[in-house]
Amino acid sequence: MKRVLITGAAGFLGSHLCDKFMAEGYRVVGMDNLITGDLKNIEHLFEEEHFEFYHHDVTKFVHVPGQVDYILHFASPASPIDYLKIPIQTLKVGSLGTHNLLGLAKEKGARILIASTSEVYGDPLVHPQSEEYYGNVNTIGPRGVYDEAKRFQESITMAYHRFHGLETRIARIFNTYGPRMRLNDGRVIPAFIGQALRGEDLTVFGDGQQTRSFCYVDDQVNGLYKLLLSDYAYPVNIGNPDEITILDFAEEIIKLTGTQQKVIFKELPKDDPLQRQPNIDKAREILGWEPKVSRSEGMRKTFEYFKGLSKEELFKSEH
Ligand code: NAD
Ligand code: UDP
Repeated sequence: MKRVLITGAAGFLGSHLCDKFMAEGYRVVGMDNLITGDLKNIEHLFEEEHFEFYHHDVTKFVHVPGQVDYILHFASPASPIDYLKIPIQTLKVGSLGTHNLLGLAKEKGARILIASTSEVYGDPLVHPQSEEYYGNVNTIGPRGVYDEAKRFQESITMAYHRFHGLETRIARIFNTYGPRMRLNDGRVIPAFIGQALRGEDLTVFGDGQQTRSFCYVDDQVNGLYKLLLSDYAYPVNIGNPDEITILDFAEEIIKLTGTQQKVIFKELPKDDPLQRQPNIDKAREILGWEPKVSRSEGMRKTFEYFKGLSKEELFKSEH
């Protein structure tokens, strides 16, 4: 049996990756320091013979005894609210954390896939974004802590590939959503659904004309799985090209949830990208992958999940 280490295992994407690799017959080692994650996302795996969990901060030396065939490095705060609150940890997990995991991969002879992001394109001047675009990031802006950590992460990963011959994979992940997102993580989908469920108005930032393209988590995880098993070492965009303005999206959520509330407008956060849509030609060609779940179907499943939360969870405010 192959053994895979997944960092950020108690988070949104990491926990779905644990499920995927367990279902595919791997031995899974999850690692997380729980700074933005929650053990309840993986507690259903604790009884499984082939699942282990390490409570560990990956910016500190990472030691995993025994065989490791694959590493998926997903530890990092991912929502703007989180990385603005913990900027130094965000920089450290993308840089020092990645360095530690590359070192572990070298030691074990493992292949490593790192979770990069559409944020490496910053506020893009090219639309849609293809992997050849170098990006437009404000290094010293508030979002720079995340974007630059991820850009450094890509650079050091390519350096290990070129200098040490390490097998590396780089996924540029575009906005992904689904069950297990944290209600209060500030990202637009839990924000809008939470507001609808609590009977609050939906807060659209700016004039709502900025765009995003949302990928359902099952599609994302399948794309990541295919990328890991491919032989392609350069970055690949994984996302859903179905683009929508945030204002239209708010209207869709009002219809989906049946809320009587309306949209209200708030200030646009600094350096909030105006448009974002992946060009996924590479993923189609190299991985034979494209998203299958429509926004209406994915949002229905996501709404079901959030409706299942307790009143206490719904009204708990962390921020
Ligand atoms: P998340 O916050 O739900 O999960 C991140 C997990 O990493 C959490 O469980 C957190 O506790 C853990 N973590 C953070 N710092 C750590 C450290 N130093 N040591 C050990 N664990 C640590 O976020 P997510 O949405 O699941 O994102 C996972 C990864 O995917 C991140 O690297 C993120 O940058 C990337 N990504 C996500 C999206 C998205 O739309 N969800 C888009 C682009 C990239
Ligand atoms: N957004 C919004 N209202 C909210 C939360 C977010 O209008 O309550 C906007 C945000 O300004 C951005 C988009 O929704 O333009 C997506 O934000 P998110 O934080 O989900 O992801 P990112 O900006 O990292 O793509």
